[in-house]
Amino acid sequence: MRQIDHFIAGGAGSGGTGRTHQVWNPSTGEVQAEVALGDAALLDRAIAQAKKVQPEWAATNPQRRARVMFEFKRLVEQHKQELAELLSSEHGKVVDDAHGDVQRGLEVIEFACGIPQALKGEYTNGAGPGIDVYSMRQPLGIGAGITPFNFPAMIPMWMFGMAIAAGNAFILKPSERDPSVPIRLAELFVEAGAPEGLLQVVNGDKEMVDAILDHRDIAAVSFVGSSDIAQYIYERGAANGKRVQAFGGAKNHGVVMPDADLEQVVNDLAGAAFGSAGERCMALPVVVPVGDETADRLREKLIPAINALRVGVSNDPDAHYGPVVTPEHKARIEKWIDTAEAEGAEVVIDGRGFSLQGHEDGFFVGPTLLDRVTPDMESYKEEIFGPVLQIVRAKDFEHALRLPSEHQYGNGVAIFTRNGHAAREFANRVIVGMVGINVPIPVPVSYHSFGGWKRSGFGDIDQYGMEGLRFWTKSKKVTQRWPDGGGDGSNAFVIPTMG
Ligand code: NAD
Repeated sequence: MRQIDHFIAGGAGSGGTGRTHQVWNPSTGEVQAEVALGDAALLDRAIAQAKKVQPEWAATNPQRRARVMFEFKRLVEQHKQELAELLSSEHGKVVDDAHGDVQRGLEVIEFACGIPQALKGEYTNGAGPGIDVYSMRQPLGIGAGITPFNFPAMIPMWMFGMAIAAGNAFILKPSERDPSVPIRLAELFVEAGAPEGLLQVVNGDKEMVDAILDHRDIAAVSFVGSSDIAQYIYERGAANGKRVQAFGGAKNHGVVMPDADLEQVVNDLAGAAFGSAGERCMALPVVVPVGDETADRLREKLIPAINALRVGVSNDPDAHYGPVVTPEHKARIEKWIDTAEAEGAEVVIDGRGFSLQGHEDGFFVGPTLLDRVTPDMESYKEEIFGPVLQIVRAKDFEHALRLPSEHQYGNGVAIFTRNGHAAREFANRVIVGMVGINVPIPVPVSYHSFGGWKRSGFGDIDQYGMEGLRFWTKSKKVTQRWPDGGGDGSNAFVIPTMG
């Protein structure tokens, strides 16, 4: 059985609790590896190494730091296919999707290559007689990231790209369900010229997470995962005096106005609701047609499009989506479909009990369409995180606007319409962090920032872009006064003259 260790001080690091966690191949249903679960002593070793290298890295001029980021970007591009295949074999998303996972992470690395420009501070000349004021952003020291299973390349790069370019050392605790790509990224980072210990990977479960939250030498923690854990991380980290941002679950709605281009909407929904088997925090699992007539027309077009989706193993180039991550997750999704049915939703297309010929042990869930879902249903209130699309019929625009606004999650939302006024009104009033107008998955580009509202995001600073830079740095404000010496020349600043 393949053993996956940690990545400490530039190389494989062993040790920890002695406990391991199974890493599946979701397409075959076999355990393909075991990952070691670390403990507080292992974290101490990583911190000791980070402390050795971080001060010199922080003192390295930003242009030189950017060169390491450039080289890392080149290496990840060079190894993209290998990374995508490795990722897909542990996660289950199809290789094409895995390429997207790596690519969206790389875009933040590209942004981090501009760190010399991004770190320039503010300056006021002559704030008073002989007085200037300037501010600078300095690194925090050691930062940590705790990441979910569903984007094992992108989310680690979102975090460590910004943290390290800003001058910090970084400790990554990836998901124990697909830990190999984060380790491979850390190896490439050393190959790119980063000091050994600047980026380290400690594997583990709650025990390691708690060690991170309690460690006095970790200044900031960025978390992405489910909401209850996000809230726990936020509260425990903050109680220990750390800076914390913690992003949680989602239930994104797509509002379809009567004037929307339904062909386009159906095409967008096929990707946004079912791509990556719905295991995306920016998936679109709820569609809200405005008016029964729109709902009926949409449903009629959705049924053949969903039935045409091809579910396959993760390296099937023709598959639309692959298996879900673990057998427990498959069971959980199917249970949510049971619940929805029991609550009175109409199961229009049923993905339960789906089996892929030749891969009967894989963790596949067929595409599912539920109609006549209502806001009081538990299956609407909670995140399902699977290939399940729910139709919630809205009476009118105001009703459609209220649904995502009143939902416990506020990550992303979309509106499909040809009416600019309706779109503008919706974007201004909806109580959700990221809005798409005729864009089903509105993940902002790397030079903007990413973050949801309500139970989708705890803390007040978003990820990547300039917000990410603010999260990973603290600002210092300097007020300086250089008086002239009072006329006798003894204390005067002497301006050198030529000749
Ligand atoms: P998860 O919450 O189970 O795990 C996330 C991380 O927390 C992992 O590293 C895990 O080891 C750790 N963890 C798990 N249980 C813990 C516990 N009891 N105490 C401390 N740490 C614990 O999430 P997941 O299943 O890996 O990822 C899917 C979730 O992440 C979904 O809810 C999804 O919406 C969310 N997500 C959110 C965003 C966002 O930006 N808002 C992005 C991606 C995923």
